[in-house]
Amino acid sequence: MTRRHLVTGGAGFVGSHLVDRLMEAGEEVLCLDNYFTGRKENIRQWIGHPSFELIRHDVTEPIKLEVDRIWHLACPASPVHYQFNPIKTAKTSFLGTYNMLGLARRVGARLLLASTSEVYGDPEVHPQPEGYRGCVNTIGIRSCYDEGKRIAETLCFDYKRMHGTEIRIARIFNTYGPRMLENDGRVVSNFIVQALQGIPLTLYGGGQQTRSFCYVDDLVEGLLRLMEGDHTGPINLGNPNEFTIRQLAEKVRDQINPSLAFVGEPLPQDDPLQRQPVISLAQEELRWQPSIELDEGLKKTIADFRRRVEDKI
Ligand code: NAD
Ligand code: UDP
Repeated sequence: MTRRHLVTGGAGFVGSHLVDRLMEAGEEVLCLDNYFTGRKENIRQWIGHPSFELIRHDVTEPIKLEVDRIWHLACPASPVHYQFNPIKTAKTSFLGTYNMLGLARRVGARLLLASTSEVYGDPEVHPQPEGYRGCVNTIGIRSCYDEGKRIAETLCFDYKRMHGTEIRIARIFNTYGPRMLENDGRVVSNFIVQALQGIPLTLYGGGQQTRSFCYVDDLVEGLLRLMEGDHTGPINLGNPNEFTIRQLAEKVRDQINPSLAFVGEPLPQDDPLQRQPVISLAQEELRWQPSIELDEGLKKTIADFRRRVEDKI
């Protein structure tokens, strides 16, 4: 049975890969975006397709649509972008999720929230299982995003308890891949762009902090399984292979130009020291685990950036 899917943030990095999978499966897709960090370029391949519609809209405003599934991804994800207008980020998280839950309730749609590992903050428990409640600064420069996602999760559960709304919550860990913005400010895109431009790679705070990087195709597979499975979540979706930021820099450098240097820059405020998902819940409930190793994923990502960046040098 063909379903009608609303993908908020569908012109963004993760959203556009999800749109591809849904369209390839023959589903109907309504892609909604305000183009803050999304680009029409990412979904250009579907424009004009009879099962695809593009809606320019801001999720902080309500909207009436008839849909079966709501994939609620609209929210800037890179610190550079979510800190550009932190009040707007908090509004997007709270009002955006509130409006999409209102829509889900009205039309009886199931809503999946793209939450984040940032709900764990700068974690004191390592690696992070879903039961860990986190260590988040309420008043720092990352709070608009971290606390925004925490209240978004809360709203989802209150809609479920009060109105029986069907919800799914994915706690997404650092994801990378083709279509990340060149000026995104996230570490994978920064390092690749710097290496392709032949300039030193910027290691914030010495690069001993860790992250666990998931290739976007693996993540999207996890999201699809979560939406159609029976488990509400929250459920961690990420790659459990943990690397220091210096190790990541070395991998990018070695694939692009082994003679490049590193340059130290100050560690941003509240930058988490370590991050690694426990994914046993996703393995058990969704029969999901990532399959693309960092070296392989970086190769595909670098090929995509090469096409885009080298045109501009
Ligand atoms: P992205 O910035 O590429 O995509 C976000 C999309 O939402 C963009 O197309 C943007 O224009 C749109 N958007 C932002 N505010 C909006 C608003 N008010 N109304 C309508 N559209 C709006 O980011 P991404 O990496 O694709 O992330 C997608 C989702 O996944 C986000 O909710 C993010 O918090 C979550 N997430 C991503 C990661 C990651 O590593 N990529 C990790 C954890 C969580
Ligand atoms: N980082 C870095 N150099 C950069 C960009 C980021 O060393 O040019 C570091 C950043 O301080 C953080 C890690 O890489 O410790 C991941 O940063 P990103 O913004 O990608 O994601 P997040 O901090 O939200 O996990």
